[in-house]
Amino acid sequence: MAATVDDVPPTQTPAAPAARRRRVLMFPLPFQGHLNPMLQLAGALRARGDLDVTVFHAAFDAPDPARRPPEYRFVAVGEGVPSADLLPSGSDADFAGAVLRINDRLREPFRQALAEEEGGGGARCLVVDSNLRGMQLVAEELGVPTLVLRTGAAACLVAYLAFPALSDKGLLPPPSHDESVLDMPLEELPPLRLRDMVFSATTSHANMARCLDDLVAGTRSSSGVIFNTFQDLEGPDLHKIAGAVGVPVYPIGPLHKISSTTGATETSSLLSQDRTCLEWLDRQEEASVLYVSFGSLVSIDEAELVETAWGLAGSQVPFLWVVRHNLVSRSSSSSSRHASLQLPDGFAEATEGRGMVVPWAPQHEVLGHRSVGGFWTHSGWNSTLESVCEGVPMICRPRFADQMINMRYVQEVWRVGFELEGGLERGKVEMAARKLMCGEEGREMRKRAMDLRDKADKCIKEEGSSKSAIEMLLKRIMSF
Ligand code: UDP
Repeated sequence: MAATVDDVPPTQTPAAPAARRRRVLMFPLPFQGHLNPMLQLAGALRARGDLDVTVFHAAFDAPDPARRPPEYRFVAVGEGVPSADLLPSGSDADFAGAVLRINDRLREPFRQALAEEEGGGGARCLVVDSNLRGMQLVAEELGVPTLVLRTGAAACLVAYLAFPALSDKGLLPPPSHDESVLDMPLEELPPLRLRDMVFSATTSHANMARCLDDLVAGTRSSSGVIFNTFQDLEGPDLHKIAGAVGVPVYPIGPLHKISSTTGATETSSLLSQDRTCLEWLDRQEEASVLYVSFGSLVSIDEAELVETAWGLAGSQVPFLWVVRHNLVSRSSSSSSRHASLQLPDGFAEATEGRGMVVPWAPQHEVLGHRSVGGFWTHSGWNSTLESVCEGVPMICRPRFADQMINMRYVQEVWRVGFELEGGLERGKVEMAARKLMCGEEGREMRKRAMDLRDKADKCIKEEGSSKSAIEMLLKRIMSF
């Protein structure tokens, strides 16, 4: 159930003038991995400040009205705007192209929506996803101060800040696609390699450069940048960013742990969660289950699905696998809403009692469940952070966008997981599952992940770094 105004503590900040409550406007990018942290941020602000919240959202990918937190005002932007090419999908999605098109198409509708909302008065600022430069420009034109929410890692922004210099050096786009060139370590960005900076095979260098220019310009012209990360996890990169962007930096994560909106991902979930898997997990042994999920956008082909299925079956490791209705690309069954229809014949029988397949899971609760001992992930930032915060080590299989960067930090910096490289074959899947769940290396990774979990727990407590950063952020908002 969502929190109400009455069951959250009042702010310590000065009381608002009696007649006029302060309102924060928010505009998330309309993808699951961006919507979740924005609504979690709304929950965190609302819990601690005398603030009302308006959430603007793209009409084409709206949060389900039945699950929206009732305490926020939701305003749809861009009703009727053509949207078929606005959701990146496929195994190598052109995220940058979709972001550019969203900015182009929603900008004018947003101008009208913002002017109407502002007509009511009382808006302190707009918190905008860092990819929505078009919306930020509209706010600037209408005199509304902006804060930017980065839903990715600090490490990712450090890499993006280096993009122009790497282009000037002739390294981006890569001069060749030879493995030896792509594996070149980037001395200015350890532990990243050239290949980790290639956004996706379907994103053009020009689109990528434009997207990142906009993102960096938006960050620099904002009144502050908010990160869903924490000091003990990414201190050095946060420090670099503070020096480079010239605006205040607020590392207030992990947002899913500080949001007051109970069941925050359930309410912001674009898909309906199958909660029966929690009962199934209750019946499994401690730290025995491998949770497998590739997030909301990544897709795989049918051959990869088959190899994954038989790899999991052959590993003998208990597993909970999320097979989204559109996980499999270019498949006649991809339109099926029923996950199990996509799985190979004989798989259900071979894994009976040891495996469960669901179309979408309550991921926070799954990762926090005592039975879950490992996570095979696509290395999206939310999934990575959620795993770290529960002390769960990872098998990483990044595909596009910032996923390669996140994987490198998991493997090389925090050492809480490893990459499953190359073609997806059942033998490799079996070995990776056993290495993480049954081997000595997996145990060591789990110990390090538990250390990070303890640090994440600490940063949101009294005197913790994220708690202090939220207080600073609130002061900033109240100063507008
Ligand atoms: N998620 C979920 N249920 C699932 C799979 C994912 O609730 O079965 C949530 C997950 O908790 C995370 C988000 O979806 O908050 C995925 O974001 P991420 O950045 O990891 O990846 P993206 O979907 O953006 O690629």
